[in-house]
Formats: sequence, C-alpha cells, structure tokens
Amino acid sequence: MKIHEYQAKSLFSSYGIPVEQHILCHSEEEALAAYTELDMEKVMIKAQVLAGGRGKAGGVKLAKSADDVMNYTSSMLQMKIKDLPVTRVLVSEAVNIETEFYLSFSIDRKNKSVIMMLSSEGGVEIEEVAKYTPENIYKVNIDPFIGMPDYIARRIAFFLFDDMDLVNQMVQILQNMYQLMIDKDASLVEINPLVLTEEGNLIALDAKMSFDDSALYRQEDICFFSEPTEEEEMELHAKAKGFSYVHLTGDIGCMVNGAGLAMATMDLIKLNEGCPANFLDIGGSSNPKKITEAMKLLLEDDRLKVILVNIFGGITRCDDVANGLLKAYELLHADIPVVVRLTGTNEEEGRALLRSSNFLVTDTMGEAVRAAVNLSIKAG
Ligand code: ADP
Ligand code: MG
Repeated sequence: MKIHEYQAKSLFSSYGIPVEQHILCHSEEEALAAYTELDMEKVMIKAQVLAGGRGKAGGVKLAKSADDVMNYTSSMLQMKIKDLPVTRVLVSEAVNIETEFYLSFSIDRKNKSVIMMLSSEGGVEIEEVAKYTPENIYKVNIDPFIGMPDYIARRIAFFLFDDMDLVNQMVQILQNMYQLMIDKDASLVEINPLVLTEEGNLIALDAKMSFDDSALYRQEDICFFSEPTEEEEMELHAKAKGFSYVHLTGDIGCMVNGAGLAMATMDLIKLNEGCPANFLDIGGSSNPKKITEAMKLLLEDDRLKVILVNIFGGITRCDDVANGLLKAYELLHADIPVVVRLTGTNEEEGRALLRSSNFLVTDTMGEAVRAAVNLSIKAG
C-alpha cells in the first residue's frame, strides 16, 4: 500500500524527520488561505497523487503571488497524473535549495535485510543514477539485529558530509527513518530529494512510503490512509466474498475453479492472442449461490465481451455448477455470450443441463478458449 506525500510527511514529523512547512488544500480558496497563513512570498504547489514523477508531469510548481497560487491550484485540480485525478494539493514553503540528495530504506530480499541507499544525485529518478553513474549510489545493508546505532549512522553520514553539524543532522534523519520503517512495517521509505538548504539545514522535500500489505492488520494508523483505486476496490469486494480475484486489462471474463487451472486458462487465452479481464478462482465449492456471486462480480465489469467458465469437477460436481450458472444467468439477465467447459464428476449431466440454454458448451479447454477469444474479437 502506498500513501501520499503529505501523509508520509506527517509520519516524518512525528518521527523527528525535518520537513518544510506545508498545508493540505482541496480547493483554490483553501490554497489561497494557506498562502496567507504561511505568509511567504514564494510557495510550492504540489499535486498529491500516488505516483512519482509529478514534477515532470507539471504537478510541482513554484508560485510567487496569490494569482499564481490560484492558477496553479486550479489547473492541478483538473489534472490527471499517470491516469490518477488530482483531488488535493500541498501548499508548501519554497525552500532555498543548495544541494539535492537521495536517501531511501527498502527491503533487500536477497540479503534478507533492509538496505539503505544514499546518493549525491538527488531530485532525479534513482533508476537513472543506477543506470548511468552507479558509483554515485552508496548502499549499506542494515543487520536487523544491530539496526542503526550511532556508529553506523555516522559512517553513512560521512559519505556525504565532513561538517560535523551536517553529520549530526544526517545521523538523526537516518536513525529516525530506520525506526519509522521498522515500527510501521514499511517496505519503502524514500526521500527524493533530501535537500541541504542555503541556511545549512537538511530537509525532506519529498516523501514516499509503501507498506507491506500483509502487515496492515497490525498497523491501524496506516490503514487509515488507505485509498483503494477502483480496481483495488473490486479486488477487496471479491476477497470479502471468498474469491481469489485479480483485475487484469483484457475483455474475457474468467470463472475458474482452482488457482492452477486459472493460471493455465490465462496462459491459453494469451497463447490464442486473447486477453483475460481477470483472474478469478471460485475455489472448491460448487454451491450455486457462490456461482451466482461470481457471475455477478464478473458482470459488474463493463469491459467484458465474453465470459469463459472453465471448471474441473472433482469434489465440485459439474451438474451443481451447471445449475448455479443457469440460475445466475436467469437472475442477472446477462446479455454477453458465455462459453463453458465442464469436465470431471457428473460432466455428462452438467453439459446436458446447459445444452438447452444459451451457453456455448464445449468438450475441451482448447475449444472453449478458442471460442471465447473469437467471440471477444467479433464483439471487438
Ligand atoms: P516528484 O518527485 O514527484 O517530481 P518532488 O516533490 O520531488 O516531486 O519535487 C520535484 C522537485 O521540485 C524537487 O526535486 C525540488 O527541486 C523541487 N521542490 C519540491 N518541493 C520543493 C519545495 N518545497 N521548495 C523548493 N523546491 C521544491
Ligand atoms: Mg521526488
């Protein structure tokens, strides 16, 4: 899970990591009031979206007057950055930057530890630095049993600074950032840029944090920040109903029992040059209610051109599944074609039930997938 810059900055502040003065705004009026409250000539207007590269996309602007504040806020609030609508902006103190650095803590799976990355080339994407000047990135794996005591933090700080005042500021930031990462089960804490101001202070001008979803159950204050996208909403909704569901980009809706068969179905669709709209594993039960729920879930997705049902009956009985499908179709008044492949326990009975319906029933998985792909192309 990702959070916004202003949310990460509030965590930074509570952990003693210095940030510039800032006020969150939802409208031009609020931005103007914030400008008056900050009482500074120059402020930055920063779009708040869960995506990086806002600067390049026009989502970070320097405003030098009340008119600028109004204009930039108004245009940003109508903007989309990487397809995400901007609903809020941060009005923040424009800092006098002397130098920009990069600093992050993330998970290094290979070494089973947190890794700290520091670079004198801040403000640009770290992937670019890694590609062209990797020698400018300083990396340190943090031993989880040792953490970030003074001597390690100091050694890291000396990579950038000789001046003891700056070293001490940096040590505080390193220790506090590491503690924040551990306390909140974060998978990433990134400051890009961490700036040295002309006044000699180190400040986090940007703040990015991601969290381990599997640990959210014990991070109530972090869950509070959650803003699922439409797709994530759908996935959560499916999960609550007991399905394993992943939103994909295509137009063939899939209903499959068992994760392995679901994966094989996706593969076969791709092999036939189609594109699945989702991964949906309905699990082992053939309870007609569950089939109806799964069908309902699929039909809520208006991108679908066809539904492909691929069921292997073991404990699941094919005639139960067929009954469930018939009931669901009747109930939901679906008007898109449904291709069904049923095999296994009671397959003859299952297929017989469906033959008198509008479903296209096939004998093999290959036939079913080809039929579904053709129908999706035809509906094009
Ligand atoms: P993003 O990484 O999404 O493009 P940043 O917050 O890193 O957004 O801002 C991009 C650049 O804008 C920074 O590298 C910095 O040069 C400048 N900047 C951002 N915030 C401020 C600020 N408060 N004062 C001065 N310059 C800023
Ligand atoms: Mg940045």
